Amino acid sequence: MERTEVLVAGGGISGLAAAWWLARSGVPVTVWESDARAGGKIASTQRDGYLMERAACMLLNFRPEVSALLRQAGLEPAKAARTRDAQSQRYLLQGGRLRPVPMRIGALVASPLWSLRGKLRLLAEPLVFSRAPDGESVSAFVTRRLGREMLDKAMEPFVAGTLAADADRTCAAAALPRLAELERRYGSLAAGVLVHRVLRRRTASRTETFSFRGGMATLVDALAASPGVGLRTGHRVVEVAPDDGGWRVTASAPQGTRTLRASQLILATPAPAAAALLGGIDSELAALLRGIDYAPLALVHAGLARESVGHPLDGTGFLAPRGESAVLTGNLWMSALFPDRAPAGKVLLSSYLGGARAPQVADWDDARIADEALRTLRPLLDLRGDPELLRIDRHAQALPLYHGAYAARMQAVEARLRDHAGLHLEANYRGGVSVRDRLLRGHAVAERILAARPSPSAARPRPTASPCPARSY
Ligand SMILES: Cc1cc2nc3c(=O)[nH]c(=O)nc-3n(C[C@H](O)[C@H](O)[C@H](O)COP(=O)(O)OP(=O)(O)OC[C@H]3O[C@@H](n4cnc5c(N)ncnc54)[C@H](O)[C@@H]3O)c2cc1C
Repeated sequence: MERTEVLVAGGGISGLAAAWWLARSGVPVTVWESDARAGGKIASTQRDGYLMERAACMLLNFRPEVSALLRQAGLEPAKAARTRDAQSQRYLLQGGRLRPVPMRIGALVASPLWSLRGKLRLLAEPLVFSRAPDGESVSAFVTRRLGREMLDKAMEPFVAGTLAADADRTCAAAALPRLAELERRYGSLAAGVLVHRVLRRRTASRTETFSFRGGMATLVDALAASPGVGLRTGHRVVEVAPDDGGWRVTASAPQGTRTLRASQLILATPAPAAAALLGGIDSELAALLRGIDYAPLALVHAGLARESVGHPLDGTGFLAPRGESAVLTGNLWMSALFPDRAPAGKVLLSSYLGGARAPQVADWDDARIADEALRTLRPLLDLRGDPELLRIDRHAQALPLYHGAYAARMQAVEARLRDHAGLHLEANYRGGVSVRDRLLRGHAVAERILAARPSPSAARPRPTASPCPARSY
């Protein structure tokens, strides 16, 4: 039987990141990916001079481990910084119009976006002495700490736009772990942010939002091609079984069935696939994973001549609260965000439809999805004429919904994993959906595997990133 030290099932960003950190430390690792290409949800498409993203379109980073990975993978020169316009503001749909949301805190508080009552409620946050009950939703958490207006105008559209989730059903501890932790440690978000600001000056790297020339595919392609990552595409893992302290893993591969023995197994597939593989080994763990719901999403990429858009497109784009839009959660002005996303004199607008807000989009045909996006955009952006390019990307299971008592579900998963030495579950249903979180979790699982290695610890190589300061804001 073939052998490897670590087998990673799933070559999305979660699996690739774990494999990259392990390979970097000299650990023999193999990645089996069922698809014909690595990257999972992340893919960038070039057509007629437009560059479109199928999933993640940007990376927001403030963690030194992520900076280290990018540097060591040779990706620094490939980064594409946000344009000056995109750094200055974003918009919110309010009262049927787009209203600017300033990025500076002073201007944000002074903004006419919030009523006087809403502002006073916001300023009273440090005086809120209550603590989060178990399983509290994002809506309850934000309303309790910051007031209803902040929920309706900021957090609900943020949760719908970035997590495709429903704030009323999303577990605050799981979806907003840093805010929940600030409350737990400091009793107030404002006090916690202040403390972190002071600490940050001494410890942390700066916050940076960027993509890559060539799009986010540049990141996954670079990791997949890194020496030692051992990627095999077209390998669908069909069976996993404990085997004498390690794991026996079987895949259906282009050449037929392949079986391999690994000391450590990282399942980096979406939760339903992991549940199916673990069903015969641990029915409780499989049920916990099977219970994770996913939301469908559709992306509509529209390419237009600049003069067909009346709006100045002077920002990142806009988010749409549920009271304003029933299906579309947001629209990103990709050509204003990053350079080279559209040919000269053209713009690229990418709309997000569906999520927990409107799961029915999964049943709509492409024409209906495109019509809905354009119908919503036309008056807001003063669109004249039809797009010269239209592309629709669909995800039946775009993102895991951190709904219900999600933090408790993850604790139960953690507890079950203690019975399965050498088994790791690393995908975006655990520890955050963002690319930054996936790269960080890859680093963390590599550290755990290295720490468990039988080799003498003094000689053991470690993933080479500087230690991680307690900084998340
Ligand atoms: C529309 C959209 C926009 C987003 N925008 C952003 C953004 O701007 N910034 C950001 O940080 N994040 C963003 N995200 C989130 C981020 O892109 C995802 O959370 C992340 O890419 C998920 O990576 P993953 O590796 O966990 O899962 P996946 O990408 O789903 O990868 C899982 C892999 O496992 C493989 N697999 C499944 N079953 C098997 C099997 N049996 N054997 C072998 N392989 C298997 C799959 O083929 C797949 O390649 C966005 C997500 C979406 C959907």
